[in-house]
Amino acid sequence: MPLVLASPRPAGSRPSGGRGRPPRHLADLPLAERRAVVAGLGEPPFRATQLSRHFFGRYTDRPEEMSDLPLAAREPLTQALLPRLLTPERELACDGGTTRKTLWRTFDGALVESVLMRYPDRVTMCVSSQAGCGMACPFCATGQAGLTRNLSTAEIVAQVVAGARLLAGGQVPGGPGRVSNVVFMGMGEPLANYASVLAAVRRLTDPVPEGMGISQRSVTVSTVGLVPAIARLAAERLSVTLAVSLHAPDDGLRDTLVPVNRRWKVAEVLAAAWAYAAATGRRVSIEYALIRDINDQAWRADMLGSLLAGRLAHVNLIPLNPTPGSKWTASRPAAQREFVRRLEAHGVPVTVRDTRGREIDGACGQLAASARP
Ligand code: SAH
Repeated sequence: MPLVLASPRPAGSRPSGGRGRPPRHLADLPLAERRAVVAGLGEPPFRATQLSRHFFGRYTDRPEEMSDLPLAAREPLTQALLPRLLTPERELACDGGTTRKTLWRTFDGALVESVLMRYPDRVTMCVSSQAGCGMACPFCATGQAGLTRNLSTAEIVAQVVAGARLLAGGQVPGGPGRVSNVVFMGMGEPLANYASVLAAVRRLTDPVPEGMGISQRSVTVSTVGLVPAIARLAAERLSVTLAVSLHAPDDGLRDTLVPVNRRWKVAEVLAAAWAYAAATGRRVSIEYALIRDINDQAWRADMLGSLLAGRLAHVNLIPLNPTPGSKWTASRPAAQREFVRRLEAHGVPVTVRDTRGREIDGACGQLAASARP
């Protein structure tokens, strides 16, 4: 999975856009509020349900595709509740068209990326929750660029709806299909944009017409480890999977790889993760990018193994995808194998993430940068 959706820009340059507040969209609002907006326009409130079915069930915001609405009402209703939020700036495909990455331009010129990955048994959409990111992890290209702004709920949801439209229209090899999984592993720190991300999770998982009807269990929220926000998410009692980007078992190294560790230490982050697992019954995913000679030593595998042994957790090892100009690279195969073996020896379930889309990922991060003047 290409989890290095990133947008570096030359040092010292400013983001080209992202200074505004996106227009209101029905995906920002619960159905009851959509009904109030429709009523305010002098239309019967049930039109909110019709519009919602078009967007969440048929993946369209186009007035000409809404034949159940009176002609005269289509334009005012879509303008009020279905403004086009994202414009495709570039699209890249690989894996025979089953992996597709889109660079989107927001209404105010910010650039964000999403990726669709079709597997034999599922389709995963990897979405961005912020334009840029403020967490400054040195191995992540998005982290180099800084935060431009939070995305709105509808800007997040629209990335998934766009993928769903492609799939429903049979435009992804493998025949017509639907989005089964959503991972918040694109640009941004989802828990730093808590309210919009939580509302997006609800919109994605509530049944049509309230939302898109994706299973909560198929949604993964990935975080650097913002402890208070993890606790807050646990209290929502959702069945979404939490992923924690650990990358090091010791504070000394993690302070440098994930700078927010200076605020919340490994022990605190893991305590929050176990509380999340206890509250939800969901296995926590521990993300660990393997970086050659930095965090891939056998002793660190043992240390990680003893931290995780007996916990409701599994480790997702990600071969590092080096960012342009990075001094770091992926671990040697032998080191990776030994890392896996030692975790397994501690009884910790471990998978090595498939590096889907790496060819277009090579552009991963360079996409947004190359689109800038
Ligand atoms: N901010 C969130 C989600 C976005 S990043 C988080 O940090 O969890 C999604 C995953 O990709 C994280 O685990 C992140 O650490 C990882 N990642 C970022 N840059 C990477 C790179 N160059 N190579 C491999 N994984 C990377």
